[in-house]
Formats: sequence, C-alpha cells, structure tokens
Amino acid sequence: GGAAEPPPKLVLDLERLSQVPPDKAGPLQRYAATIQSQRGDYNGKVLSIRQDDLRTLAVIYDQSPSVLTEQLIGWGVLDADARRAVQHEDG
Ligand code: C2E
Ligand code: C2E
Ligand code: C2E
Repeated sequence: GGAAEPPPKLVLDLERLSQVPPDKAGPLQRYAATIQSQRGDYNGKVLSIRQDDLRTLAVIYDQSPSVLTEQLIGWGVLDADARRAVQHEDG
C-alpha cells in the first residue's frame, strides 16, 4: 500500500465556505472561525486545518469522514485531493 505517501493538505476555501447556506455549513463555519481566532489568522482566503480536525468535524456532522469529505468537495470548500485523507478510513 501507500503507507509512505504523505497525507494531502486539507485547505479550506474560506470564500466558498462563506457562500454555502449556514443551515448546512454553520458548524464548519463556526469551527473554522474558532481556529482562525485561536491562531490569530483572520485575513486568509484559505485555512489549512489538521487531519484530526476532519475527523472531529465528521463527528459533529454525524457522518463518516469520507462522506463529509465528498460533501465539502461538492461545496467547493475542499480540493478533490482531500479524498486521500480518508480513503483508507471507512469500511
Ligand atoms: P497548540 O496545539 O498547543 O499549538 C501551539 C503552537 O504550536 C501553535 O500556535 C503553532 O504555532 C504551533 N503548531 C502546532 N501544530 C502545528 C502545525 O501542525 N503546524 C504549524 N505550522 N504550527 C503548529 P497557534 O497557531 O497560535 O495555535 C494556538 C492553539 O490554537 C493551538 O495550541 C491549538 O490548541 C489551537 N489550534 C490552532 N490551529 C488549530 C487547528 O488547525 N486545529 C486545532 N484542533 N486546533 C488548533
Ligand atoms: P502553501 O502551504 O502551499 O500555502 C500557499 C499559500 O496559501 C500561503 O502562502 C498562504 O497565503 C495560503 N495559506 C495556506 N494555509 C493558510 C492558512 O491556514 N491561513 C492563511 N491565512 N493562509 C494560508 P504563504 O503564507 O506565503 O506560504 C508560502 C508557503 O510557505 C506555503 O505554501 C508553505 O509551503 C510554507 N508555509 C507557510 N506557513 C507554513 C506553516 O505554518 N507550516 C509549513 N510547514 N509551511 C508553511
Ligand atoms: P504543517 O505546518 O505543514 O504541518 C504538517 C504536519 O506536521 C501536521 O499535520 C502535523 O502532523 C505535524 N506538525 C507540524 N507542527 C507540529 C507541532 O507543532 N506539533 C505536532 N504535534 N505536530 C506538528 P496536521 O496536524 O494535519 O496539520 C496540517 C496543517 O494545518 C499544518 O501544516 C498547518 O498548516 C495547519 N495547522 C495545524 N495545526 C496548526 C496550529 O496549531 N497552528 C497553525 N498556525 N497551523 C496549524
């Protein structure tokens, strides 16, 4: 397998995120805002997040990490390469 392959960078597109209706994206919008606040990183168009944060967000959304990742890719918030972060997780 590809165990030596580094995980993809999880980079949230904050502009796209702000355009998703809050009834869907609200929890992620609040999570990202919290990370920005903790870092003091307020002016970015993108936000790099931890691999662990994707797992935490999956719990928040009550979905598997791979289903959540597909949703975020569908919103344009994550790059398609993010799939590699979760491809060995479910099953
Ligand atoms: P912490 O986890 O104790 O990290 C302390 C500092 O170590 C961070 O300060 C940052 O300068 C550095 N650091 C830790 N992990 C990384 C990393 O993967 N990459 C880089 N470039 N630096 C890292 P900072 O950025 O001011 O963050 C303060 C606190 O805010 C962190 O304390 C953590 O509790 C929280 N935080 C910040 N960003 C994230 C995030 O993306 N996810 C989560 N779960 N927490 C975060
Ligand atoms: P990169 O990781 O490909 O990021 C490219 C640019 O995307 C960054 O340019 C920055 O404008 C934006 N960006 C990515 N993640 C964030 C984020 O969480 N917050 C904000 N506000 N902007 C973000 P920048 O800052 O000139 O960095 C250029 C390159 O320097 C980065 O390319 C990366 O290779 C390296 N770099 C910068 N900061 C870090 C860091 O904390 N950790 C590591 N390992 N590399 C870093
Ligand atoms: P990065 O800064 O290029 O870090 C890549 C990976 O190196 C991180 O993946 C993490 O596994 C490890 N790493 C880097 N710095 C530290 C550290 O201080 N402590 C520990 N325990 N591990 C560290 P990860 O966690 O998936 O984070 C992905 C990216 O998210 C980071 O890329 C960085 O751009 C951003 N990030 C994560 N946490 C923080 C943070 O606390 N503060 C800031 N400013 N950026 C963070």
